[in-house]
This record gives sequence, structure tokens and C-alpha cells, in this order.
Amino acid sequence: MAQTGHRDVIVLGAGIAGLNALSVATDVLGPAGRALLVERRPQPGGMWNDTYDYVRLHQPHGFFTAGNIPWTQGHPREHLATRAEVLAHMAYCLEVCRSRSQVETRFGWEYVAHAEHDELVEVTLRAPDGSLDTVTCDRLVKAFGYDVQAKPPFEVSSGAVRSISPNDHGMKTGAIARDQAPVWIIGGGKSGMDAALALLEEQPGRDVRMLVGGGTAFLSRDVWFPTGARRWVATRPNQQGIAYTLHFDGSNEEEVQQWLLRGSGLSPVDHPRDFLLGLMSRAEADTLRTGVAEFVKDYLVDVVDGPDGPLLQLRSGAQRPVPAGTWLVNCTGYLAREEIPYEPFVSASGRVVSINPRSALTHLTTFASYFLTHALMRGLLPLPDLYEVDMVAGTKEAKAAGGVLALTATLYNISVFFDALPMSVFLNNRLDFDGWLPPARVAAGSLRFMATHHRVRARHRAALDAFGARGIRSGPLSPDRA
Ligand SMILES: Cc1cc2nc3c(=O)[nH]c(=O)nc-3n(C[C@H](O)[C@H](O)[C@H](O)COP(=O)(O)OP(=O)(O)OC[C@H]3O[C@@H](n4cnc5c(N)ncnc54)[C@H](O)[C@@H]3O)c2cc1C
Repeated sequence: MAQTGHRDVIVLGAGIAGLNALSVATDVLGPAGRALLVERRPQPGGMWNDTYDYVRLHQPHGFFTAGNIPWTQGHPREHLATRAEVLAHMAYCLEVCRSRSQVETRFGWEYVAHAEHDELVEVTLRAPDGSLDTVTCDRLVKAFGYDVQAKPPFEVSSGAVRSISPNDHGMKTGAIARDQAPVWIIGGGKSGMDAALALLEEQPGRDVRMLVGGGTAFLSRDVWFPTGARRWVATRPNQQGIAYTLHFDGSNEEEVQQWLLRGSGLSPVDHPRDFLLGLMSRAEADTLRTGVAEFVKDYLVDVVDGPDGPLLQLRSGAQRPVPAGTWLVNCTGYLAREEIPYEPFVSASGRVVSINPRSALTHLTTFASYFLTHALMRGLLPLPDLYEVDMVAGTKEAKAAGGVLALTATLYNISVFFDALPMSVFLNNRLDFDGWLPPARVAAGSLRFMATHHRVRARHRAALDAFGARGIRSGPLSPDRA
């Protein structure tokens, strides 16, 4: 096994979580700093390299970045970036990091294991040729984040339907787009809605139906990112988030969902149960409401061949006949992947951090990576007041609670970070949705946050504790980090 040198920091994973870690680390280390970025894929971008081609960012593009790095592509602020634009920005973020410190990249390499001893972290990596290499560092960021995988088609018994993955078949460019046959989209989250919108944009009269589980609510983009003069008067995004999460007591997610839908949320589906913090505009919701022939709240179990043709078999026991040749598009479960193992967000020594949804600090991996790496690079970890939540179990076992749980944890943990980190960390944070508003409103919001966050934090902690009492991980790290 080769032994190749020592680094100040190693970042594993070059998705947006890894790039946030690298951005923070290189910012703190400066020109003398030595960083290594390791990524299994051939280039930066993580899931954006192989997600479906019609995906668009659902928040205005400026908020999807690495730390304090601005976009440079010249789009209007409200532009929802395409996959190619996101990838180009992520490549640019890496170049900025390279200009700050000595950054070595190893694409096509894979993390194998790490061990901590003598105040060092030893990391074992596998090279593209299969050989192993050991590298040591002072600090390690395991930024595998959501580690999104391309979706395979739904496996069904019937050969009379066409079961496909959106990753392999463009809804605007693939065979499905050139065809007239009915489509069933399996999954009612962001990916399912993206697929339906793309199909309806190409063929407005197409027979598109959706199996949407419990139905998903979205944040209204028009409310959270108002345009024109409304930027001066609309409720700030962070204020919206606080108002929403303060309704949550750890057990009342259905009631909280109703509250959201009365104000800053929406859905093309009646009475949606789930919420995963996706964004949708009113115009998109209207297009879906009028264009999708049917939203069925149920889950697909199989498609079998009946005497008169294929039948969708649903979890409720219901069956739906569909014409032969019907397309089935699998848009389920990209994020809450049960295969992702639990790993505490920080090791006992405070030298290794892990950005993952099983020990999540925040809703998006960008935020967790940004703040946690700032604390890591300053030697402030472990911060015992931070709370972890298991977002995979949270969204699987208490489906309606996923979004509010994630946002409650985010606001709670940001308050803890605020007490520990320098003010500059908050002032330079380009991920913060309040940055959508005029600077005077951002400043007023910051003052209000400073005056109220301890009080608000206590209520968030109570809700997270109450949720934890339901048997899903939500609270401080256990001392043995099991
Ligand atoms: C279809 C879809 C659309 C989405 N749209 C949005 C959106 O509009 N806005 C938004 O904020 N979020 C969106 N999300 C959520 C999104 O997943 C995240 O915001 C983000 O891009 C995830 O980044 P990540 O770094 O956490 O994970 P990933 O992008 O999955 O990156 C993890 C990286 O780690 C690497 N890796 C894993 N294991 C190893 C190993 N052992 N060795 C080396 N490298 C390894 C992987 O190859 C990968 O490149 C979307 C998710 C999906 C599925």
C-alpha cells in the first residue's frame, strides 16, 4: 500500500456538500493550506452529473453554491438553472478553491476507510487501477451527503408496459416524448412533478397520470421568493421558516401541514400528506392540476397481465387497468435511501465530520457542510449542543413530519452555530434564502434573529426532543456515538 503525504484537510465527495466543505476549508487555510479532494466520479457535480436531463434547480440559482462563491453566468436572479449550468457552476467553484489553497484532486478514486490515531486521521483510498493508497490529514470531511444514485426502472411482472427510469429517458427528448401512449408517473415528489411538467410541456394533451403516495406539498416559490415591490413587504424566507416550525411540537405534523398549505405552501394534489421542502410555483401547480389526468394516492406494488390487459396492482389492494404500451416512469425515493449507513456527524475527537442524512444537522447538505466545516477548521468540534436527526427514518416512518423536522433541526442548529462561530461566517453565507431580499431587510432580519434566537431555539429543542421520544433519532449525539 502506497503512503503519499500529509494534508491539512481531506474532503471526500465532490457534490455540492463536498464543494461547500472545500470552499470553507480553503478560505480558512489560505495559500499555504494543503487540501485533497477525492471523488468516485470523473468530475465534480455529484448527482448533477447523471440526474435526468430536464431537471432544473427549484430555488433561484444563486442559493445553490459553495459557501461564499457567487454565480458568474449572468442569469437573472430568479433563473432556475439547468443541469448543465449547475455543473458548470460547480466546476467553477472548484477552480475558485484551487485559487485559494493548494488543492489536489483525485477523480475516479474511492474512499475505503479511515482511522484516527496520534492526532492524525489516516485515510485509505482506492485508485482507479484498484491499488490502495494511504494519506494522512489533520481533518477529514466525509461529504457523501445524499449520495444520490440513478434510479433503475420499476421492476414489474408484465411485459406489456414500458417501465423506464427518468435518468435514461428524457421526457422531452426520448422515445416517450415521441409517443402518444398513456404515462403513469410513480412518485409525487419533485422528480415526479418535474417529469409530469416536462411531458405536458411537450404534449399538453398527453394522458399523464400520477401515483403520488400520500401526496406531496411544496413551498410556494412565489411566496418564498417574491419579485418586484413584494420583495420589500413580503415575509422574509427565514421568518416564514421560523413561523412554520414554531407550530411543530414534535407530534402534530398533520396540523402543521395544514397551516403551511393555508399560507406559504401549495400542491397540485388535494390534501397532501408529505412535505420535503421542495419548491413549486403557482403556475407550475396550475399546469399540473389541469394537465395531469389523475392523481392517485397509493403506491405501486406490481404490474401484472390480466385477461384484458395489464393491471397496476396498488398497495391498498386496488387494481387499475392500463392499455398495453403504457409508460411507467420511476420517480421514487431518490433521497431517503435506506442503504445509507448511520455515521455520527462528528467523531469523538472532533477531527472527522460526516455530512449524511442519517445524522443530519440541516435540511440541505450544503448548510450542514458549510457550518460544520467552519467549526471543524477552527477546532471547535464537537459542539455538544448540536442536534442530529435521522432524515431517512424521519421521512420513512413519520412521513408527514419529514420537512418540518428537517427545518426545525436546521434552525435549531444554526442558532447553536451562531453562538460558536464568528459573525463573518454568517455574513458570507450565500446559501441563506433571506439574501433574496433587499440588503436593508436582510440587516433587519439579522438583528431580529440575534434578539430572538435563544428563545426560539428552546422551542425548537423541545419539538426535536418530543420527536426523538417517538423512537426516531432526533437529539444530541449519544456519548458512545453508536
Ligand atoms: C432529482 C433531484 C433533484 C434535486 N433538485 C434539487 C434542487 O433543485 N435544489 C436543491 O437544493 N437540492 C436538490 N436536490 C437535493 C440534492 O440531492 C442536493 O441538493 C445536492 O445536490 C446533493 O448533493 P450532495 O453533495 O449531498 O450529494 P451528491 O450530489 O450525491 O454527491 C455525493 C458525492 O460523493 C461521492 N461519493 C460517494 N461515496 C464515495 C466514495 N466512497 N468515494 C468517493 N466519492 C464518493 C459521489 O460520487 C458523489 O459525487 C435534488 C435531488 C434530486 C434527487
